[in-house]
Amino acid sequence: MSLRSLNLSDELHRYMLDVSLRDNALLEELRAETARLDMGRMQISPEQGQLMALLVRLIDARRAIEIGVFTGYSSLLTAIALPSDGRLIACDVSEQWTAIGQRYWEKAGVADRIDLHLRPALETLEMLAAGGSPPFDFAFIDADKTNYDAYYEGCLSLLRPGGIVLIDNVLWGGSVIDPAKQDEDTKAIRALNKKLRDDDRIDLSMIPVGDGLSLCRKR
Ligand code: CA
Repeated sequence: MSLRSLNLSDELHRYMLDVSLRDNALLEELRAETARLDMGRMQISPEQGQLMALLVRLIDARRAIEIGVFTGYSSLLTAIALPSDGRLIACDVSEQWTAIGQRYWEKAGVADRIDLHLRPALETLEMLAAGGSPPFDFAFIDADKTNYDAYYEGCLSLLRPGGIVLIDNVLWGGSVIDPAKQDEDTKAIRALNKKLRDDDRIDLSMIPVGDGLSLCRKR
């Protein structure tokens, strides 16, 4: 019995997916199409996607916001997990990548639950705050790292108490503990991680799934 998380070997990881991943052809197809892109490594792992969808259902989320859509995999899972009258505000600046996602949202029959905002996410967050938007239940942040703190603050303020913010890439491929890594992205992630630890507005768990996922529940 260890006090730390198990280090998954490839075989154990395969076993975990074998006995727990609930996949379908559409998700598989979107992952495969994304993997063929140069930036394909940016997509979240299938087990992380499944965890996120479960969290959406656990809190009965009806209103969700996603900062960083890429090819729409997490948006697809989130939208499917929402009730039919649920809403996902999807924020990204890339028409090219989100166009891929839109095809799959249509195929899955959830496109009407997703409002895509093609502009810098900070503008969308400001617009929502200024427009007196009804509170959100769920937020997922997976975009440019230097704005992570601003995205976190923007999402947290839009959230209802008990709502959750998920933040992706918080372990950043291990760069967070490498003193040689002093680039702006790594520094932004380190700073936010420390801030979250001491932030008494939230309950917190950092989950070592994918590239590290922080789960914050607004108090
Ligand atoms: Ca990511």
